[in-house]
Amino acid sequence: MFTDSLAISEIIAVGSELLLGGRVDTNSIFLSESLAGHGIEVRFKSVVGDDIEDIGVAVTNAAKRTKLVLITGGLGPTVDDVTREAVARVTGIPLRLRPRALESIKTRLQSAGRTVSESQRRQAFLPAGAVLLRNPAGIAPGFAVQWKRCRIFCLPGVSHEVRGMWTESVLPMLRREGILSPAIETRTIQAFGLLESEIDNRLKGIMPATSPFRLGLLASPLGVSVSLTRSRTTERRQAGKKNSRQSAMSLDDLMNDVIAKLGQHVFSIDGQTMEEVVGQRLRARRSTIALAESCTGGLIAHRLTQVPGSSTYVDRGVVCYGNRAKMELLGVPESLLKKYGAVSAQVAKAMAQGIRTRSKADVGLSITGIAGPGGGTAHKPVGLVYVGLATSMGTSTKAFRFHGEREAIKLRSSQAALDVLRRWLCDSFLDEA
Ligand code: ATP
Repeated sequence: MFTDSLAISEIIAVGSELLLGGRVDTNSIFLSESLAGHGIEVRFKSVVGDDIEDIGVAVTNAAKRTKLVLITGGLGPTVDDVTREAVARVTGIPLRLRPRALESIKTRLQSAGRTVSESQRRQAFLPAGAVLLRNPAGIAPGFAVQWKRCRIFCLPGVSHEVRGMWTESVLPMLRREGILSPAIETRTIQAFGLLESEIDNRLKGIMPATSPFRLGLLASPLGVSVSLTRSRTTERRQAGKKNSRQSAMSLDDLMNDVIAKLGQHVFSIDGQTMEEVVGQRLRARRSTIALAESCTGGLIAHRLTQVPGSSTYVDRGVVCYGNRAKMELLGVPESLLKKYGAVSAQVAKAMAQGIRTRSKADVGLSITGIAGPGGGTAHKPVGLVYVGLATSMGTSTKAFRFHGEREAIKLRSSQAALDVLRRWLCDSFLDEA
């Protein structure tokens, strides 16, 4: 069971609040991402309450399976902060007052005009011989101990303290010891408009079984993210296996193959958001945009304006939720609303034309749909959404049918509308070329 590599790790998140549902364990997400980025695989994660016995069991199990264990939480001054005691008990390494730890606690408290209380003094008791880890953002010092063949790092629970200590102390330490793999390479491709299973099908056979690369798919309302990774761990595992095609293939070659398979559905590479992509294209062609949003309630405008510098291309956005608003703010004819209903291609078209004419922006983008959970009918179900796009080349509409909760439908709808715009911007660029 014991893995003979420091490049395999385990994370233990300590905190009863993490088990009660009041707090999400975001620390392990941060640590996992960072570890993966440095070529260290996370094999197990566990969450335990503030209980000495339970923490002890988790640490014992972790030390049996991996050689690198990262614990967050339970280093504070209160009675429920028992990580120090649990590690001391399970490893048999007694706690000792560490003058340097006490000094750093005093200094930090003094800078805030406070003195050390008896309970805060407890935080300076660390396992004998442990390496002290400075806390750049808080009071509780962290520490690292060697137990049998396992390295255990204990970090605080507060997220920004974990990040600070991880970046300033733990990573440099692991780097010095040659545990990190700087050779890791990752590329991500974001696609919209295909289901995860459809992407899976399209990418079947793209990598032989003995490839040194790893391919991962992650679906969200914003699309599917395809990640391609080449890590030292995977390479070591493949070492010795015959694989002439892949050994000659670079990660970029593989990425180009994936892009070719997914075609127009690919909207970005290496993490650019849809709003950034669209913004870049609008800026490049010096176009302005005005939005008329019904079911997304301003979400598209919000997302576009999250991008710094978006004032060069975002002119305005109108939230026209009710029929009266659609008539008054956009000039949608009442007859159209009565005949086809607010959620229809005809109304989406009139909304896009209305906002474009009234704003004099180059592009008018509209959206109308049923976000649910109520309001759907057999003819017009929840998740039915129409997007309208008005430009100097005419007006078009596109219908979508989304599934999921209200929030996910709103998010998907906003992404779909931006994707309609992106595709038009790509195509019209080609037309102009
Ligand atoms: P403190 O000195 O503040 O007591 P600590 O090391 O004892 O720090 P905890 O008391 O366990 O940490 O948690 C401090 C705060 O950080 C709490 O608000 C807690 O909910 C939060 N927290 C703890 N663990 C995690 C985690 N894994 N992910 C996100 N937040 C966490």
